[in-house]
Amino acid sequence: MMIDLKQLFEIVGESIDIDCCLSLSEVKLGMTNPFTEPVHLSGKITNRAGIVTLNYTASAAAHHVCDRCLAPINTPVVFGFEHILVKQVNDDSNDDFIVVPNLVLDLDELASSDIILELPSKVLCKEDCKGLCPTCGVNLNEQSCNCTQKRIDPRLEILSKLLEN
Ligand SMILES: [Zn+2]
Ligand SMILES: [Zn+2]
Repeated sequence: MMIDLKQLFEIVGESIDIDCCLSLSEVKLGMTNPFTEPVHLSGKITNRAGIVTLNYTASAAAHHVCDRCLAPINTPVVFGFEHILVKQVNDDSNDDFIVVPNLVLDLDELASSDIILELPSKVLCKEDCKGLCPTCGVNLNEQSCNCTQKRIDPRLEILSKLLEN
């Protein structure tokens, strides 16, 4: 969504409501696409005393897979963002300002990068997820396997040989 901000920058007290959907189905997180359904954006851009501020929330149903056991995790996410929009910056030391050179804001581009930065790089189904057995692949949260018993610590192996004799 492209938002024309020319009038907003000129008139103090003016505001523009945001209520739209953004498709992020192309975004990948590891092996999954977390946003198969559109992300809903709602908020406001206001000119308060000459300072133009964008305030919005992004809400969506996010689909992840557990980093250890690959179980699907579906959680609703809500992120809130605030940016100050400026026509130009005098020194580019402040990253909080979003420069809108021709006074047309590409909200989709801005929201996409905002949301992607908020996404966790790794998601676990639970804090103490036991993961999958690297040998037989069973989900160790649901069942145990005998693989670990066969993998004996080499130091213990010597001990067990001694005990056999
Ligand atoms: Zn897990
Ligand atoms: Zn196993």
